[in-house]
Amino acid sequence: MTRWSQLGHKTYKENPSDAEIPSHQLLVRAGMIKKLSPGIYTYGPLALRAMRKVEAIIRDEHDKEGCQELLMPMVQPKALWEESGRWGYPELLSLKNRNDHDFCLGATHEEVITDYVRNDITSYKELPVILYQVQTKYRDEIRPRFGLMRGREFIMKDAYSFDESVEAAHKSYAKMKEVYKNIFNKLGLEYRIVKADAGAIGGSLTEEFQVLAEIGEDELLVSDNSDFAANIEICEALKVACDFDHVKKEESLEEFATPDLKTIEDLAKSLNVEAASLVKTMFFEGTKESKVFQFTVLLRGSDQVNSIKLKNRLSLDDEPRMLTDTEVKALTGASPGSCGPVGLKTPIYADHNLRDYKSMVVGANKDGFHLKGVSPERDFKIESFFDLALAREGAPSPDGKGTLKSIRGVEVGHIFYLGQKYSASMKASFLNQQGKACFFEMGCYGIGVGRTMQAAVEQSHDEDGIVWPKSIAPFDIHISLLDNTDEINSYVEDLSKKVEELGLTVFVDDRKERPGVKFKDADLLGFPVRLVIGKRGFTNGLIEVFNRKTKEKIESSLKEAVEKIKGILC
Ligand code: ATP
Ligand code: MG
Repeated sequence: MTRWSQLGHKTYKENPSDAEIPSHQLLVRAGMIKKLSPGIYTYGPLALRAMRKVEAIIRDEHDKEGCQELLMPMVQPKALWEESGRWGYPELLSLKNRNDHDFCLGATHEEVITDYVRNDITSYKELPVILYQVQTKYRDEIRPRFGLMRGREFIMKDAYSFDESVEAAHKSYAKMKEVYKNIFNKLGLEYRIVKADAGAIGGSLTEEFQVLAEIGEDELLVSDNSDFAANIEICEALKVACDFDHVKKEESLEEFATPDLKTIEDLAKSLNVEAASLVKTMFFEGTKESKVFQFTVLLRGSDQVNSIKLKNRLSLDDEPRMLTDTEVKALTGASPGSCGPVGLKTPIYADHNLRDYKSMVVGANKDGFHLKGVSPERDFKIESFFDLALAREGAPSPDGKGTLKSIRGVEVGHIFYLGQKYSASMKASFLNQQGKACFFEMGCYGIGVGRTMQAAVEQSHDEDGIVWPKSIAPFDIHISLLDNTDEINSYVEDLSKKVEELGLTVFVDDRKERPGVKFKDADLLGFPVRLVIGKRGFTNGLIEVFNRKTKEKIESSLKEAVEKIKGILC
């Protein structure tokens, strides 16, 4: 039994000014988390209990599958990060010790874990191995926000698998996917597993576990008729049949004046055509193997470019940067809005939906003018066509079943097949069955503990406060003690013992506050069952049992209270 008077804990009536979303507001108002600095929070005793429950479920599911827990250092030497080539990443917070040696705070632990196993695991006979830890990370996020959802300092469970072959690594990946499903099912969260961006590593073996929530930072596209789900960052946009007959046949090229028409929408209106039948020209700078170059992208007027697709398809080191207006002018001779592909010296890539466009309307590279009847083969050269636009709600699902629907999610977990990215750069090898030295096949698997706990609150709250899922509620039972007599105290002690024997936990509000204040706070803290015990009912042998989720209130005899509680919780 824990008493409020032991907590050193307060609740607040007002929402903090920097809290934009309900879960952040509620956790702060309930006194569960407290900001020390942007993105850096203290977890109070109640929040910590919920986090520990999340961690316990995570540990349990990992241990069941033979994963081994270890704990790696937070402070990591620069030399290690230079081996992988990641020293200098903007999210790394670096520091020096008194001897002027460089270190960083652990933002992730691929480098340390690879160093840990190299030279120790020397033979395929010692594989596979999956190691994990639950530990504090630091990432110098540009814009920490939403409380624990995007912190600078946060607790993550990170696991790493080591295998002898691609096939075996895929097996470890599949196993971890099951572990993750079990974890999020046990937590009782509504989530989707979505295809995610594999970045420079390539392949399709990376998925995110997304807790569904309107405030989610990620847009997900899911089929209304199958289990297809992908992060919009990578969701394929299928080529669809072109509806516009006027763009499908070649015409002669003609320049026409378009003063004051700056956007595709303006132009579409003035020509009385659909934006999708016009062609948008965009300019980028990309870096490939450290060489910087400019390129041009064409897509339908109604589409948005997906720069992750550009990065992946063109094998760029990073997402490309859009040219500034000044750079566009230097390249084309015109301002954006009057630019097009004719006469350009950069490579030109076009979205695959433009394959049917034989007569395009594009900018003339002369301010205030456009061209119509532009033919790709005749008037300029397209390097290649590929899928480079953002997929959209309403488009056909890439698996051929149904239509895409847009939903939002909070990424709480991420599983990733890494291949030899780290083992090769850090020279971590073992001897395979043929006695040949090979680099480990690796995978990494992360869950944000604080983000998951807060996502649960985001998914489960009402106008009065948090409604903790039973799986991670800081306490199971909240006793609002209205009077403090010896009889009541000894009843509460006795009741606590009985329910604690059932594995349930009890929190007693023993403050000298008015009943109204106590009820409001009990609603705000949101533990699944509330008991109200006061002199008046007690002398008649009655207490009140309140179900926080359904708000159902029942009177119970003193004797039957345990059964009533079990009815709600067990
Ligand atoms: P995001 O795209 O949200 O920045 P990420 O791809 O950088 O996430 P990973 O490196 O895959 O995240 O980290 C694994 C998990 O750690 C994430 O799924 C998320 O739950 C959690 N996480 C990552 N960054 C943060 C953060 N700044 N604050 C809280 N949790 C985080
Ligand atoms: Mg990140």
